[in-house]
Parts: sequence; structure tokens; C-alpha cells
Amino acid sequence: MTTASAKDAAELYEHFKVLGQEDAYTPSHCESIRLLVEEIQDLKRSEDAVILAHNYQRPEIFEVADLVGDSLELAKRGKDFRQGTIVLCGVHFMAETAKILSPEKRVLIPDAMAGCSLAESVDADDLTAMRDELKLRYPDLKVVSYVNTTAAVKAVTDVCCTSSNALRVVESLDSDNILFCPDENLAAYVASQSDKNIIPWKGNCYVHQQIRPEALQRVRKARPEIRVIAHPECRDDVLAEADAVLSTSGMIEYARREDATDFLVVTECGLSDRLLMELPDKRFFKACQLCKYMKMITLEKTRDALVNGRDEVLLSPQLCEAARGSIERMFELS
Ligand code: SF4
Repeated sequence: MTTASAKDAAELYEHFKVLGQEDAYTPSHCESIRLLVEEIQDLKRSEDAVILAHNYQRPEIFEVADLVGDSLELAKRGKDFRQGTIVLCGVHFMAETAKILSPEKRVLIPDAMAGCSLAESVDADDLTAMRDELKLRYPDLKVVSYVNTTAAVKAVTDVCCTSSNALRVVESLDSDNILFCPDENLAAYVASQSDKNIIPWKGNCYVHQQIRPEALQRVRKARPEIRVIAHPECRDDVLAEADAVLSTSGMIEYARREDATDFLVVTECGLSDRLLMELPDKRFFKACQLCKYMKMITLEKTRDALVNGRDEVLLSPQLCEAARGSIERMFELS
């Protein structure tokens, strides 16, 4: 068995911290969180609002959320709430997706600047130009876009996908040639599992792109028993080091199901917070990669969104209509 040297251990803790050892949550900070949580719960009732939160949010946001999940869960289940206002604690494309699926509702995002490097790596005009050019060579070409895209990109997409259903969506299409947009890493992962011709758009998530295989190898050396679970937005040399490649919701199910107690969670750090809250008997080491966009959402801004009715997501009915088809086709295929 390999054992860790002191140097390895020091490097390990530079890269991965055990949850619960940070001291940001002082008693006075926790008290202010408690008061804000109570205020937001009251506002939700008076404003007829529901809060949907992505897995990568701060742990205190989970306290006020009516639903916590990955992009697919938020899109699929979020539209079924009866409340007239949706507050989306996540990034802007998620709030747009909520609006596309519930155009009659008021959709608020606590900070409109919460974007996404992946969604911003493609625009609708460039995608249309590439699609039209490729169709000359591959007449049966279909455009599959990750849900991490703007409403305008969804409007020129045949079918959307998420990391949990990307392979299933691609396999169920009656086309052998797929323009896969915008995550080149997820495209490569799907291509490794499929016989279809997957043509990637050259975009990536800056959070997952920063993770290197050497960091995982150091952890494995220090803790040979650890189970490594990685998100398919990571580079392929990182995925090659993983015991399982899973979406965020897939990681939760895997950690719940497996007998192992120690997991290295190779994705944005917020998921580890949710895992610890749901599975307190297990230990989760995290990749110390924070999404600066996801972390722009705070309890204070969530309270202010409900008080001031902003930032509201506004999309034309025509754009909602054009974009909705690609999401509904995903629901049908997956
Ligand atoms: S983690 Fe990456 S893909 Fe997710 S919102 Fe942040 S930048 Fe976008």
C-alpha cells in the first residue's frame, strides 16, 4: 500500500480540504444567517414565491430553497410549483430556462451578473453559421446543446441535454452526425461512449478546466482508499483518473449507494457542501474550485430580489417559444 509523506499531506491540504474545518461560519455569522433565513421564508409567503437553487450554491442558500438540484432537475421540476414567482439561485442561463418553461411567471435572479463561462463561449449567430456549413457535408446533422446556453442558442438547437442525459440524448437521435455545443470536454466524453460522429464546439467551463490530473494523483497517493468521482466537464486526462464519471445528481446517488466512506468530489466545491448535509456519516474532499458566478448569489441578494422584484428575467414570447422546443425534446428523449 502506498503511504503519504508529510510533503504529500501538505500538498493534499493545499488542494483539498475536509469539509467542516473552515472557520467562516462563526457564531455571530450563523446568527445573521438565521435571521436572514427567517426573513426570506416570510417574504416567500408574502410574495407568492418559490426558490430554486443549484447544487453549486452556498450552503446557507439551501436553507431557503424549495428545490435543490442540477440543471435538469431545476428545469424539469421547477415549472410544476404553483407560486407565481420563481427566484432562481444559480446562474443566468438557469433563470432563462425557468422563464422559457414558465413564461407566465415572474422569474427573478438575485444577481443578473451571475453568468457562466460555458454559456458565454457560444453565440447564436456563430453556431448557426457553423451548423449551416457542416450541413453541406452532413445533411443529417443535428445540433445538441448543453443546457448551459443562452435562450438565443437554445432557439437554434435541435435538442438540449445535461451532463446526466447527454449520451442518452445523442444515442436517441436519428442522426449519425452531431454538432455538440458548447462544452468540448463533455463532447469528448460522449464521443468516447458513442459510435456517432460528435463534432465539438470549442468551449469549456473555466472551473472544471483548471483541475489537473496531478492533483487527483496526489490525493490517491495520500489516501489510496478514496473513491474519486468526477464531472464530465473536466478534461479527459482528469476523467481518466476517476473511479466514476457522473453528473452532480449522479454523484449524490453514487455516494449514497456505495459502501466507501471517503470521496474526492471533482467538480465545483458547492456540491461537496450539499453532499455533507445529505450524508453526514461520509467524508467528502473537494477540489477547491469555486465558481465565481455561482457564489455571486448570497442570502442578502436573495432577500433583496424578493423585496425589490429584481433582477427580473425578461424574454420575448417569440424567443421563449423558439427555445422551448429544444428543452421539451430533451424531456421526451431522456
Ligand atoms: S461551474 Fe462552470 S459551467 Fe457551472 S456555472 Fe460556473 S462557469 Fe458555468
